[in-house]
Amino acid sequence: MNFDLNEEQKTWKKIVHEFVAEVIKPKAREVDENEEFNWDAVRKGGPLGLTGMNIPEEYGGANVDMVSCTIAMEELGWGCGSTALSFTAHNMLGTGPIAVFGSEELKKAWLPRMSQGKGKLGSLALTEPDAGSDLQGGLTTKAEKQGDEWVINGAKMWCTNAGIAEYVITLVRSDPKGGSKSLSMILVPTDAKGLTIGPAEKKMGLRGSPAHGVTYDNVRVPLGNLVGVEGRGLQQTLATLDSGRILIGGISVGLARAAMEESVKYAHERKAFNQPIGEFQAVQFKLANMALEIELARNMVHKAAWLKDQGRPFSKEAAMAKLYASEMAERVCYDAIQIHGGNGYSRAYHVERMYRDARLMTIGEGTSDILRLVIARSVLAGK
Ligand SMILES: Cc1cc2nc3c(=O)[nH]c(=O)nc-3n(C[C@H](O)[C@H](O)[C@H](O)COP(=O)(O)OP(=O)(O)OC[C@H]3O[C@@H](n4cnc5c(N)ncnc54)[C@H](O)[C@@H]3O)c2cc1C
Repeated sequence: MNFDLNEEQKTWKKIVHEFVAEVIKPKAREVDENEEFNWDAVRKGGPLGLTGMNIPEEYGGANVDMVSCTIAMEELGWGCGSTALSFTAHNMLGTGPIAVFGSEELKKAWLPRMSQGKGKLGSLALTEPDAGSDLQGGLTTKAEKQGDEWVINGAKMWCTNAGIAEYVITLVRSDPKGGSKSLSMILVPTDAKGLTIGPAEKKMGLRGSPAHGVTYDNVRVPLGNLVGVEGRGLQQTLATLDSGRILIGGISVGLARAAMEESVKYAHERKAFNQPIGEFQAVQFKLANMALEIELARNMVHKAAWLKDQGRPFSKEAAMAKLYASEMAERVCYDAIQIHGGNGYSRAYHVERMYRDARLMTIGEGTSDILRLVIARSVLAGK
């Protein structure tokens, strides 16, 4: 057994860390306060491979392994939760389905411009006003074939990046009869007639990562915009989310690491009862638990990623990694605020933002309840 990163992964970690420290982390408060997306991160991160992590090299991507993706996501999460979320939504949700399931025509048309960070981003629309966890039963956005086009009607919500995207890959009901083979993924360019992208949601955290409602009013796109196989949209979505969950785990580890670093700094600086608060055992135990949980979560995230890289089943491990890492990040950020005392509640310090950002990680790409269902099903099946 070898817990070391290989040389390539170590170099990648160093490059991404230095980039995040210079271009992303210093702007984390600003993008949150102003609800602005950090475009500089895309323009400068693209050439490093950060906008084409899952895109094959022949389409201009970096095509790094999954462990390297999690390394990048931990660093991005360490720097800024908002920017990290938009990057994972672009890489895993926005370009992933095209790279994995798309036709050669779709790959050629979209992936080269997505991979270099020169244009806008990618987005995936699954969730609807009345359906999130239950996509199979609850999804109502429909697509009908008319001649050589799909005609799409319906509404989506919470689409990360939609307002800064070239297209929204949309999960639709393509067979009104319903069932597990009634959904399909269709790529809808954001300038398509009849597509309306609402204003960015007013969120608790991750305020520098725009999420939008999207409505489809007789939107027409060519039949060739089908991503993958007609009727396999649910299965393609679940496969996409399995990988996405590992990356949300990576972001969670990064957020927690940043909160611990802030706490350690504060524990050295802040004095009470004539001594640095880091000399109180109560504070030390909080820091010890943080270090312990971050280490454990990172190992789980890396293991799930490694399984994927080996071509082995990883669905259960991905669910476990995301569940543990996201709930861990919330605990760590909670304690980071406690260590900061009243200052922890102030926007002048970073930990309150990290706490707000971490909160989403237990909800997006499968709530903690849904992940427990995934794990339980696997356990009951003896896997
Ligand atoms: C900031 C942000 C960004 C997002 N980005 C995207 C995106 O890019 N694309 C996208 O499509 N979606 C996105 N989402 C939506 C997100 O994936 C959903 O919110 C999430 O999947 C939960 O769905 P829901 O909100 O409809 O909750 P619901 O499904 O209505 O669930 C509500 C509650 O019921 C529980 N519950 C539901 N079913 C069960 C069950 N069977 N057993 C036990 N408990 C259950 C849930 O755990 C939850 O606690 C985003 C959301 C946010 C907040």
